[in-house]
Amino acid sequence: MLIDGQPQDKPDSDRPRVVILATGGTIAGTAASGTQAGYASGQVSVDAMIDAVPGIRDLADVRGEQVANVGSQDMTFAIMIELANWINALLADGAVSGVVVTHGTDTMEETAYFLNLTVKSQKPVVLTGAMRPATAVSADGPLNLYNAVAVAADPEAAGRGVLVVMNDWIHGAHSLTKTNTTSVETFLSPINGLIGTANYGKTQYFRRPFRRHTDTSEFTVANGTALPRVDILYACADMPADLVDCSVSRGARGIVIAGDGNGNMNAATIASASRAAGEGTVIVRSSRVPTGTVSRNVEIDDDCHQFIVSDELNPAKARILLMLALMKDRNLDALQQLYYAY
Ligand code: ASP
Repeated sequence: MLIDGQPQDKPDSDRPRVVILATGGTIAGTAASGTQAGYASGQVSVDAMIDAVPGIRDLADVRGEQVANVGSQDMTFAIMIELANWINALLADGAVSGVVVTHGTDTMEETAYFLNLTVKSQKPVVLTGAMRPATAVSADGPLNLYNAVAVAADPEAAGRGVLVVMNDWIHGAHSLTKTNTTSVETFLSPINGLIGTANYGKTQYFRRPFRRHTDTSEFTVANGTALPRVDILYACADMPADLVDCSVSRGARGIVIAGDGNGNMNAATIASASRAAGEGTVIVRSSRVPTGTVSRNVEIDDDCHQFIVSDELNPAKARILLMLALMKDRNLDALQQLYYAY
């Protein structure tokens, strides 16, 4: 822990203990030169990543474990479930203060939200990554990892749900989203704002998440749990309506429409989605627009078509909530309430 920017000299037993779980991504990526755009994700081991961060061991007693080593475009629910159980086991140990997960940025918001619903602890769980590979000029990974460990070691971070620390900002899992393909300032929390900031290990908090998470979440996943298929369909001008039928015929139990505007879709797709809903497929209206909520019965009569709205959740996170929710029988009203609660 830093006090006034200075590491505190404490015996090992009194220092916070933080476990870093590595899953790959650009933070563990390498390129042939420091200035080239092309690189391979998930090349550097967790121990090498820790050793590349000066002063990290002054923050906490840090230990690394390798869970996976993939670019997060290849993240799977099998890895997420393993991660949730790994974290639950670690945090059940009274000696562990918090966990950091290093992760690619492409699907970081999905894993963060999944863990927000399935980790059962108040202790800090912090995801971090990098936009530039470890070998790049001005690599952002080392400082992100340093700040993530500072947050995971900080008792003030507890009870705020799963957090993401990138580029000096602390985001909540429910609200963050990736907004830029290459910039280090890619993650924003456009609807609710930041949870806080982390500046060279010095933390500051502005708020707590408004929604249920971690130890107040009802969702649990055992290793090997098979989640039901839920597809995302991206709405656009003159959208082909038979995409809905295609998803249903491939076994989707739910479909999230990344709608235009306030979760809209063309009349032909409303008709095919309404038919699918009548036959038991759960249809959730979210939005392809990066900020704002999707609300019921504005331009589309959700009551009549038996649709659900995602409220604040973007399509990727709305899909995760539905996959977890569909592990149990629930009526449409109960499903809708989940989107207001989580
Ligand atoms: N494609 C990479 C990944 O998500 C990008 C990154 O980490 O920034 O793993």
